[in-house]
Amino acid sequence: MKSLRSLIRQSALLLMAGLLLVFSVLVYVGSEALLHRFVDGRLLALAETMAKIVEQNPNIIEKSGEDFTLAAEMSRTGHEQHDLQEASHSLLVFSPDGRVLWKGAEGVAEHPTPDDTVFDRVRHGNTVFETVESTDGTPIRHLFLPIRMQGQVRYILHAEASMLIHRETLNGLVLLLTLGSGAILLVAWAGSGWLAKQMLKPIEVLSTGAETMSEADLGKRFTLDSPYKEFRLLTQAFNSVMDRFQRSGEIQRRFCDIAAHEMKTPLTILQGNLDVALMKARTSEEYREALINNLEQVGRLIALTRSLLTLANFTSGKPPVRLVPLALEPMVEDIVDELTLLADDRRITLSFESHPVPLILGDVQWLKQALINLLDNALHYTPSGGAVTVRLQADGGGVALAVEDTGHGIEPEHLPHLFERFYRTDWARAKDAGGTGLGLPIVKEIAEAHGGTVSVTSQVDKGSVFTLHLPIPTQQTVFS
Ligand code: ADP
Repeated sequence: MKSLRSLIRQSALLLMAGLLLVFSVLVYVGSEALLHRFVDGRLLALAETMAKIVEQNPNIIEKSGEDFTLAAEMSRTGHEQHDLQEASHSLLVFSPDGRVLWKGAEGVAEHPTPDDTVFDRVRHGNTVFETVESTDGTPIRHLFLPIRMQGQVRYILHAEASMLIHRETLNGLVLLLTLGSGAILLVAWAGSGWLAKQMLKPIEVLSTGAETMSEADLGKRFTLDSPYKEFRLLTQAFNSVMDRFQRSGEIQRRFCDIAAHEMKTPLTILQGNLDVALMKARTSEEYREALINNLEQVGRLIALTRSLLTLANFTSGKPPVRLVPLALEPMVEDIVDELTLLADDRRITLSFESHPVPLILGDVQWLKQALINLLDNALHYTPSGGAVTVRLQADGGGVALAVEDTGHGIEPEHLPHLFERFYRTDWARAKDAGGTGLGLPIVKEIAEAHGGTVSVTSQVDKGSVFTLHLPIPTQQTVFS
């Protein structure tokens, strides 16, 4: 696993190395250009001074060998002595045809053998600079300057300067830049390590806290003493996740408590019935009665388990629907057909009124489940001789699927709570109609997962209407 700390370190180091490299190259190239200009400038100034002297005293050249005269002359022009000495190492005066007419005080050990092309260019009045390596490998800068008299190039002045100091200076600069860069990289390595440690400290605190946290610590919240906004936001986000965990833990615990309680009731009744039945010898009629009673309780347990399993299929508390374009009419028709036998058995008239409705975006399995829950209740809470009607019709911007019964109805005070988990009306409990109190909450979750709602209207002793309102998809939702 990659460590963020070493990533920060490596990135800082790479960035620094890149910057140093660019900086060093710029400094080197700039220094080299400046040194070149400096050497060339000095050579040119020297050569131009000499050229002026020669132009004013052409007989100096004629007295070949009397270089001291020229030296004295140059001193008079105010040049520094060290310039002169440097120049005297390297001054030559050629005739335009390439003969050496004069050489400096100390002379040049080897006369340069000027290139023909160079000489040609100088003869045409151009000043030429060139760098040539001497036999010992030292780079030498050469300057060829034409000296004109009466408009004609009479002499070619050659001055040269060793570039050894120039090269050594550049070598020194390279050494300096290398050592400096190395030192900076070392500091950057240590500094970025320290910085990364400081930056990641709050994250370490959070992760250690999270690792050592047990279920009993769900009520704990992190306080991070960091001046940085980002870490405060991270801590807030972490704490809000903890809030959600705690809340969902509490909901789950409450849910388990109620579920256990709901299971306990039929199990206790089952146990009681069995105890009573086994207490003494019973007639077969009495045993039959006890078994029928127990069967009801088993039925209730099965219904409860089924609802709990449905809830267990929820992901993050919601039914995991897969929405596809769906025609509701055939789906409703199938379910009504399936339940007609049960309705007939209970002597309830089950009918389906269908009006043309557009396609909706829905999950057929989950919508079937919702309708079955509503129909199951309607058939459950409607006495024999009653009627249950399923009505499918367009409703405003959506589709309404209503289940209407002529049953007992629901008292107004219960209506706001019907969709809460395990909520059952007093009448239903007293009647021990075998419900679980989970059917309607599941319908509500399914409706909401489809972007819809579920509503109820009811009148005691007249009946109830439960309506699923589902939205019609817009062009955008169909194609997205
Ligand atoms: P149950 O399994 O108890 O029916 P539900 O969540 O489906 O659980 O319903 C919750 C309560 O709402 C029921 O216990 C009952 O009191 C009431 N109820 C639901 N549907 C009807 C209905 N059609 N007529 C009368 N009461 C109903």
